[in-house]
Amino acid sequence: MISDTAAALVLFSGGQDSATCLAYALDRYDRVETIGFFYGQRHAVELDCREPLRAAIARERPWRGELGADHLLDIAGALTALGETAMTSAIQITTTEAGLPNTFVPGRNLLFLTYAAALAYRRGLGVLVGGMCETDYSGYPDCRRSTMAAMQAALALGLDRPITIDTPLMDRDKAATWRLAEALGGRELVEIVRVASHSCYKGERDVLHDWGYGCGDCPACALRASGWFRYVAPGNMDE
Ligand code: ZN
Repeated sequence: MISDTAAALVLFSGGQDSATCLAYALDRYDRVETIGFFYGQRHAVELDCREPLRAAIARERPWRGELGADHLLDIAGALTALGETAMTSAIQITTTEAGLPNTFVPGRNLLFLTYAAALAYRRGLGVLVGGMCETDYSGYPDCRRSTMAAMQAALALGLDRPITIDTPLMDRDKAATWRLAEALGGRELVEIVRVASHSCYKGERDVLHDWGYGCGDCPACALRASGWFRYVAPGNMDE
């Protein structure tokens, strides 16, 4: 099977970024499938959100792309064996000496992209769409543009087939990501992402804030909330 450059595999975790990436892919590509990973997350909430979120986005408007299969890969055994982090065990989320949150699994996105590329090859999908971005200063070196360019080259060589890594959020901060959702699917899509996606590291879904569900004080909630408030009132804070 030849990889189709009009067909995309979206790295879809169920968070704000990947929800926006799914809408972007449905707007841009003819055939779209999704992949998610179970890597030993402390909370399955994000994964539980994936299917309803996927369905709601697909229903939101008549997109160019047809939404095909969802694939969930369980790689928890390997990642857990690589070492304990705050995401996979009950320890406090803090910042490490390197300035990275200790939720960071080194090179995690490289692993995800490699698995995704192998699946895309089998499915004849020529594009990987991911929500990696350089703007939120979380300090994830495996999200940088230079890393993505090198990864795309390595995957194409290793698979002996061209593959594109499309990262629509690379230059967008969280406020700009909300604006992209609005541009793609109007306020209706923004509302779907706000209510049905999940970003909170602590898996909290009891309280619906203006910016969505979450504990309100973990790093993921703080980032999401500040982006939301800059999106709804861009004059109030510096971009
Ligand atoms: Zn939170």
